[in-house]
Amino acid sequence: MAIYKITYCEEFKRANLHNYGCNFNCTWCSYKLGNQTVPNKFLDLKKIKEVLSELDIERVHFVGGESSTYPLLYEVADFAKNNLGIYTKIGHSNGYNLPPKNIDAISVSIKSLSEDFYIKYTGMSNKPVLQNFQKAHQMGIMVDASSVYIPGQVDYDEIEEIARFIADIDPNIHYHITGYIPVPGTSWRSPTREEMLKAKKIAEDYLYEVQVSWFSSFDDYLKMISENPQYQKVTVA
Ligand code: SF4
Repeated sequence: MAIYKITYCEEFKRANLHNYGCNFNCTWCSYKLGNQTVPNKFLDLKKIKEVLSELDIERVHFVGGESSTYPLLYEVADFAKNNLGIYTKIGHSNGYNLPPKNIDAISVSIKSLSEDFYIKYTGMSNKPVLQNFQKAHQMGIMVDASSVYIPGQVDYDEIEEIARFIADIDPNIHYHITGYIPVPGTSWRSPTREEMLKAKKIAEDYLYEVQVSWFSSFDDYLKMISENPQYQKVTVA
């Protein structure tokens, strides 16, 4: 639960602070596909501030694992926002912890509205996730949501319920549905293009901004990362 790496994307003037560790244990976690190992070093607060101060940046993104488990999240976000005057975003969160108020934006994964499903497949309750999503929005943090569409598991009915839940808070909240990429140890398959488009259409009955993305394999996902300018970055610490 600490920052082990900082990467920099020059085109978007963005620093990414990479946190190791997560308080969930999702069956479909893509980190299980990447053979992530425990980092051999972590960065202290002084070093993080030094590196951020030297970069030409307009935004800092906290990326996972689960960045909200980083004990110095508030301090780093405070430095970025109030000393450097830049935009702060938690790039991906399971939403179990409420983000501090010096975070400008957060992307929250809403996996299901069923608590039983959450406990079975993540090891944690979804109650704090749903409450914090609403609270973060009320705090003025720019929230967006995502779900993993898994045929037969998180299917159309579930996507519809999640979309309705989000729309009850604010139908302008952006929603991203990603297709499941099979991980070892599960029998679930990836969705087809037609299934993804149908899920999108269902969510669009409730929300104004719905995007979908899906990959047939983890290698395809890595290829997209390597080609998309949004993800081009160099390691700076
Ligand atoms: S919350 Fe995200 S990072 Fe954590 S185990 Fe689940 S999928 Fe992996």
